[in-house]
Amino acid sequence: MKRIYEPAAYGPLTGCYWSDSGDWQDWPTAQGDMRCDVAIIGAGFTGLNAALHLARAGVDVAVFEAQPLGWGASGRNGGFCCLGGGMLKPDTMRRQFGDTDTELWQGMEQVAVAYVDGLITEHGWDVDRHSDGETQLAHSTRAWRNMQRDAGPDAILHEKSDLPELGLNGPWHGGMTTRTGFALNPRKYLEGLAQAAREAGARIYHQSPVQGLRRNTGWQLDINAGSVRAERVLIATNGYSSEDLPDWLRARYLPVQSSVIVTSPLSDAEQARAGWTSAQMAYDSRSLLHYFRLMPNGRFLFGMRGGLRATQRSKAQIARQIRQDFSALFPAWANVEITHKWAGLVCLTGRLTPFVGPVPEAPGLFAALGYHGNGVAMGSYAGALIASQMADLTAPGPAPGFLASPPKRFPLGRFRRNLLRPAYFLASTFDL
Ligand SMILES: Cc1cc2nc3c(=O)[nH]c(=O)nc-3n(C[C@H](O)[C@H](O)[C@H](O)COP(=O)(O)OP(=O)(O)OC[C@H]3O[C@@H](n4cnc5c(N)ncnc54)[C@H](O)[C@@H]3O)c2cc1C
Repeated sequence: MKRIYEPAAYGPLTGCYWSDSGDWQDWPTAQGDMRCDVAIIGAGFTGLNAALHLARAGVDVAVFEAQPLGWGASGRNGGFCCLGGGMLKPDTMRRQFGDTDTELWQGMEQVAVAYVDGLITEHGWDVDRHSDGETQLAHSTRAWRNMQRDAGPDAILHEKSDLPELGLNGPWHGGMTTRTGFALNPRKYLEGLAQAAREAGARIYHQSPVQGLRRNTGWQLDINAGSVRAERVLIATNGYSSEDLPDWLRARYLPVQSSVIVTSPLSDAEQARAGWTSAQMAYDSRSLLHYFRLMPNGRFLFGMRGGLRATQRSKAQIARQIRQDFSALFPAWANVEITHKWAGLVCLTGRLTPFVGPVPEAPGLFAALGYHGNGVAMGSYAGALIASQMADLTAPGPAPGFLASPPKRFPLGRFRRNLLRPAYFLASTFDL
């Protein structure tokens, strides 16, 4: 596999709170030669939702995950099941793709959250749910003015003076609650998905990296010294994609690191001391945003962008930075114990919208990726959507046409993460 970060970004997952938050089932490893109608590469939210849909429709589907199940972004994210998935502002989207596609996209963001909600309810999964929508907090007076100007009809605005009463105390200038979305334990959601897909008939293999992908009659995948023949293949590798799986993907995606810390459980007194007692999931209005939430067990989760590199030095620097940012926003907790810290890769496209569709000039090959750090809902929905395309099933809901138009290549090839350097500098210097 050809990847663009240092090997540590692809090493064992350590320090992740979700890994310690339950007992996870063991999965088989792919052995020898096998056949299936559809092979899915990657067992995150995208791959498993696609598998679930295909298996329920009677398709013979097998999922191959390179690592232990839960190792990818789906097992290490912040658990915000919320609107999002792209980074285009609505006006820019309207200019680029027109009114119809923009409205389809906005409808799809809503449907994606409802889709995950529906799955959880249908299966009765206990995923430690909390939060009624999500709240954005203004980090400056300018951000607060913009928030007031842009608030949609369903948004609820909160004056600065109202925030302490809501249990959302902090250095904010105001806030806005959107009633769509909720928080979950992503590892528990992933486990539920994997079991449901297996019960529906999907075969799921972990520690089974796909090392080669070739077209002959159908597709052939090289896995663990064996091979798999499949009529159709789905690439569901998102930020953990390889430049050569398939070659078409080279430089069409940009993995970006995000970092998370989790505290020890905070007592009622500690929560009161900070004035943060709300179960609401929240994020601030910075371009390089901080996201945070008090979980039902009293632990506080806090996340932000990660480093440009995955070296020990860069890791240590981000660990200092995240602690510093956390303490600046929640000074009353400056000395609380951080029990868990980890990082992972999200995935951007040059177009700033996901890609969900067939790979050009490769009959039977499909891909779904690029959720811009918001893939709990959108990745899940994209999995169901691509499954419907691969097997001529009814679509789970709306989908704008631009999703299927292939993303262009980023400049700088395998050095493209350096494009983030000026973006990070500008955002941290001028984001007032
Ligand atoms: C730290 C962090 C915080 C985040 N917080 C949030 C959040 O709060 N809310 C939100 O909506 N989104 C969040 N995200 C983004 C979200 O987690 C992702 O968008 C989503 O999980 C993507 O799902 P996926 O299935 O497409 O990819 P992944 O879950 O990354 O799965 C891809 C899988 O492909 C496997 N793979 C790669 N190559 C191969 C191969 N050759 N053979 C077999 N398997 C392979 C990988 O091992 C990996 O498990 C966060 C991400 C990170 C990293």
